[in-house]
Amino acid sequence: MPGESTVARSAVGVWLLAVLGAAATAHWVLPFDAQAGLFALGLLCMAYTLAAFGLARRTAGLTALLPLAWVAGFGMWLPIAQDFGAETLAPHIGSWGLPQSLLEPVAYAMVLLAGGVATSAMLYLGTGSAAVFWHVLVLTGLVAGASISHQDTPTTTFAAIIAWHAGAAGSLLRWATHAAWASREGVCTRCGEDIRGVSNSMCPSCKGALLCSPPARKMGPPKDRAA
Ligand SMILES: [Zn+2]
Repeated sequence: MPGESTVARSAVGVWLLAVLGAAATAHWVLPFDAQAGLFALGLLCMAYTLAAFGLARRTAGLTALLPLAWVAGFGMWLPIAQDFGAETLAPHIGSWGLPQSLLEPVAYAMVLLAGGVATSAMLYLGTGSAAVFWHVLVLTGLVAGASISHQDTPTTTFAAIIAWHAGAAGSLLRWATHAAWASREGVCTRCGEDIRGVSNSMCPSCKGALLCSPPARKMGPPKDRAA
C-alpha cells in the first residue's frame, strides 16, 4: 500500500498536470475549436477525478461512475445548456428590467451556476465530502460572476478555466489525501471512527457511506492515535 508521502507527492503531481492540462487546452485548443476544447476539459476533469478516486482507494460502483460520466460529458451538456440559456432563458429574463446587453451574459451565468450545482452534487456523490461540494460550488459562482462582469473576454475565460480546474482538482486531491490516510488507518473519513471489520458500507458512528476500501484486517491494529 502506498505510504503517506507517496500519496501526497502523487496528489501534487496530479494537481500540477491538471493545471497544466487546463492551461494548455484553454490556450491551444479552445480558441480554435470550442467544441474540441470543451470535450478535452471534460476528459481532463474526469482524469483527475479518477486519479483522486484511485489515490483515495475509492471503491468502484455507481456512485463513482456517475460523477466520472458527468464531468467527462462536460463537452456535451454545456453547449446544450448554453443554447437553452441563449434561446429560452435570455428572452424570459428580459422582463426583469435588465439592460439588453446583459441578458445573454446573465442567462449564461445562470446556466453555468446550474451546471456547477449539478457538478458539485455529483462530486459529493463520489467523495461524500461537503468540503468538495462547497469548494466546487463557490468556484463556479466566482466563474459565473466573472463572466457577467467581464463579458467573457478571452483573457477572463482563460483565467476562469485555470482557476476552476486548479481549485476543483486541489479540493478533490486534498480529499483524496485525507481519504487515503483514513483508509490506511482504518478510520471513517468523516468522523474518524474506527471502521476496521465493519461489514456493511455505512459508518456505525456518523452513518455516512464508507466509500473507500478499509485496510485488510490482517494488517493489525492501527498506529496509536492522539486522543
Ligand atoms: Zn463516520
